[in-house]
Amino acid sequence: MSQPLATSRIPFTNSYVGLPDRFFARVSPTPVRGPRLVRLNHELALDLGLDPDWLSSPQGVDVLAGKHVPEGAEPIAAAYAGHQFGNFVPQLGDGRAILLGEVLDRDGRRRDIQLKGSGPTPFSRRGDGRAALGPVLREYIVSEAMAALGIPTTRALAAVMTGEPVMRETMLPGAVFARVASSHVRVGTFQFFAVRRDVEGLRALADYVIARHYPAAGETERPYRSLLDSVIAAQAVLVARWLLVGFIHGVMNTDNMSIAGETIDYGPCAFMDAYDPGTVFSSIDEQGRYAYANQPRIALWNLTRLAETLIPLLSNDENDAVADAEEALNAFAPRFEAAYHAGLRRKLGLTGAYEQDLLLANDLLKTMAENRADFTLTFRNLAAAAAGEGDVPVRALFIDPTAFDAWADRWRQRLAEQPDGAAGAADRIRAVNPVFIPRNHRIEAVIRAATDRDDFGPFEELLSVLARPFEDQPAMARYTEAPEPDERVLATFCGT
Ligand code: AMP
Ligand code: MG
Repeated sequence: MSQPLATSRIPFTNSYVGLPDRFFARVSPTPVRGPRLVRLNHELALDLGLDPDWLSSPQGVDVLAGKHVPEGAEPIAAAYAGHQFGNFVPQLGDGRAILLGEVLDRDGRRRDIQLKGSGPTPFSRRGDGRAALGPVLREYIVSEAMAALGIPTTRALAAVMTGEPVMRETMLPGAVFARVASSHVRVGTFQFFAVRRDVEGLRALADYVIARHYPAAGETERPYRSLLDSVIAAQAVLVARWLLVGFIHGVMNTDNMSIAGETIDYGPCAFMDAYDPGTVFSSIDEQGRYAYANQPRIALWNLTRLAETLIPLLSNDENDAVADAEEALNAFAPRFEAAYHAGLRRKLGLTGAYEQDLLLANDLLKTMAENRADFTLTFRNLAAAAAGEGDVPVRALFIDPTAFDAWADRWRQRLAEQPDGAAGAADRIRAVNPVFIPRNHRIEAVIRAATDRDDFGPFEELLSVLARPFEDQPAMARYTEAPEPDERVLATFCGT
């Protein structure tokens, strides 16, 4: 592991390059013509111990655009494999992303700094290694919104325009996204070594991940089993949190699932407006494999693929190893359910836990689905209903408002049984139910303004609203609204 360079502008201390050569390809970003900073995340830069003023200077922007490789960086593209929509691809890898290196943040945590859209790598296949401005803005907005909601996620350090067009269905402005992650190790990284029967590579990867993400697993008698347990637990909680805010990842391929348990690789992702468990946005997800309510099942499917890769490490006896993996996987459902059910109770402002709570929550969701009620606003507006400020705002979200009334009677009875009655419920509801989410029609409007008119005002405004998702911001009330029929966005595109 190299020492941080005190003199360097970015004090890199890189560890992934210390892994064997077959884990990655050394490759530098391809310089671009006219870098122009769209936005730097000042707070995140400070968290990383970086100087925001330097990062937004011409030299800093050259680094963020991949035009200049800074001192201490050891740029690489990582190798990985993955199941894409269920089909196994033995070699994927960073085809349009380059890891510059790692830094230790102010809390001493190791964070990757990666440039996405920084030019071709040996893993690009037919792709150009570039990114269009639209998907970069989408990832910036949604990942920062997730962070503000308290959900584990990669972060947006910067977006930079390259001054070069990229060819998609049409010519679009090109951009580079500077992303920060706990690491970029994926389920697909394990699959890369497993499919090659490279047990030594697998062991080196597992040891690396344990040291970096799950040090407690390293202290147990069976570190690889503990590693598997830890990843399963992290993903179970993560997916529960997605469901609780109405988030749909859109491409939960195994190469898009982080071993560290962060939301990663935002592509055709979206938050749903009206509650419908079958909601799909991604234009390429024709079967609804990654539909909203399917996400827990798919997470378990992906984790099963991870468990399979670990078989050679779990035991010398294959039968024992398989039984071990199955036991670990069996913990997913109860873990997920515990997190999801506790979250639903919190969303309803309930304290304590009764068996009927789940029925109460599910009946609300069912009524919401039947009445096309907005997911975010229904829960948020329960606060006013609990506070005795009126049921009008929440009722109005239901096609048949009386359907809400029948449910609300039962809910109020349940609240009345709590020590603080309904009084404390309103604050609890507001604390966990956001009023602002990155609604898809708003993101599309931001992308259109930036791409068609070079206007980044809407981008800045949306980001500032989403930075405080639980606070009523009366001047920004229009951002709470669901799309009008003509604003509704039905499909999102990878379009990268
Ligand atoms: P994704 O589903 O967007 O995470 O990407 C899946 C795979 O395709 C990864 O290996 C990416 O690196 C690669 N890829 C996607 N877009 C491009 C591109 N424009 N150029 C090169 N590789 C790409
Ligand atoms: Mg990906």
